Amino acid sequence: MKIAVVGFGAAAIGFISELVGTSHEIHIFERSKDVYSASISGVRSDGKLFISNDMGGDIEIPLSLQKEVVDYYTSKLERDERNNIKRGLSFSEESPFFDRFYSEGFEPVKSEFFHIGTDKLPVILKKIYDEFSKASNIHFHFSTRVDDVIIQNGKAKVKSENFEDIFDMAVISVGRSGHVLIKKIVERDPPLVLSGNVVDVGVRYEVPNHVVKELNEEMYEFKVRMRAKTGYMVRTFCNNPSGKVVLEEYDDFVTVNGHSTSVASSENTNFAILCSTSFTEPFNDPIGYGSYIAKLGNILAGGRKVLVQTYEDFVNCKRTKKLGRVKPTLNENSCVLGDVNLVLPRRIALSISEFVRKLGNVVEGLSYPDNLLYAVEVKFYSNKLNNEKYENLKFIGDCSGYTRSITYATAHGKMLARNFGDA
Ligand SMILES: Cc1cc2nc3c(=O)[nH]c(=O)nc-3n(C[C@H](O)[C@H](O)[C@H](O)COP(=O)(O)OP(=O)(O)OC[C@H]3O[C@@H](n4cnc5c(N)ncnc54)[C@H](O)[C@@H]3O)c2cc1C
Repeated sequence: MKIAVVGFGAAAIGFISELVGTSHEIHIFERSKDVYSASISGVRSDGKLFISNDMGGDIEIPLSLQKEVVDYYTSKLERDERNNIKRGLSFSEESPFFDRFYSEGFEPVKSEFFHIGTDKLPVILKKIYDEFSKASNIHFHFSTRVDDVIIQNGKAKVKSENFEDIFDMAVISVGRSGHVLIKKIVERDPPLVLSGNVVDVGVRYEVPNHVVKELNEEMYEFKVRMRAKTGYMVRTFCNNPSGKVVLEEYDDFVTVNGHSTSVASSENTNFAILCSTSFTEPFNDPIGYGSYIAKLGNILAGGRKVLVQTYEDFVNCKRTKKLGRVKPTLNENSCVLGDVNLVLPRRIALSISEFVRKLGNVVEGLSYPDNLLYAVEVKFYSNKLNNEKYENLKFIGDCSGYTRSITYATAHGKMLARNFGDA
């Protein structure tokens, strides 16, 4: 079969890894110029791999397959680097933290994690790329942004600015950054969308390492969620001990994110605090909602920048004019002292404030007055797409709406490939 794979991220890696050396002729179209410089994504930044039934996507992936995915990535490192990967359990029930969070109303999220670090990811990607490109049935086409995929007469027509070809099958794996292509395909074929009206909006929270030292030593990646009085589910996400806060760049706005390398790069720990917002009819534009909030933050910050505020000022609805003991790790040209309450909808601001107050009941330093909030952090989700409608058009990974992590996206790709005859 002649197959087009659109986008080369985690899901494509999983799919292709199963088809190397088979009789299928596989063409990969990636808009970036090479394997390293693709758009924002966890396979190029941070690289935390999780094994969990409680997070990572809305599809059932056996733990054995998740473990296989983690082994697949980590096996690409040299032995000593592999041995140095930070790993552990987020919330073993034996942990004293489990009870402490639980009794404050938090739900501790269980997962096993492996942190590769931004600096090690290029080595892994290079190895994977070398292995794939050596196979005679795999063909890479970089700097090729696919603009449309059209299903006609049982075949898939793949089009870009200066290229057009017909394939037996198209596998779309463009992640969340490929939303323009997905929009085009589903606008022409609305029944492809099964459901989806969710966006997570919140802040990046930054505290000095020493206040969470015990927590970081015990589990490195602590994940808890709690139903706030507002009814919103609030959760921690992407904990970065000794990490840095960074901007996440979109074409028309910026949001905030965080990452860490395999060696400590700061004296602070940052993590996201996110509220899941789901909408009902007639509203159907969660991406628009999240983007507008992010843009409002940028307007108040005076351009492609985010606002930063101390926790005390946030609770008192006062613009921060002077920072306390916690020094921001985000580059000073990328943020402005301000009042996050002018940006976040009241229901989200109240939920975050309650969440941080309760975190402080578990680990006192988590609600110190001079801890920092950066706004806004947004997690967009793709609509859930129908993979049964066409035999020759499949969506894998985050663009399918069923995954939101490296492990799940890669496993999703592997599962599709394993349904093939000679895979
Ligand atoms: C900053 C950041 C950090 C993250 N950190 C983690 C983490 O530590 N752990 C974790 O589990 N998850 C993390 N994630 C989430 C994780 O990256 C994704 O869930 C996962 O990569 C999804 O895999 P994918 O293959 O669906 O998409 P991606 O890995 O995003 O790959 C999609 C690819 O498609 C390409 N593409 C897009 N549009 C087109 C087009 N029209 N034509 C051709 N190519 C196109 C893109 O350039 C990209 O290379 C992070 C995400 C971000 C943004």
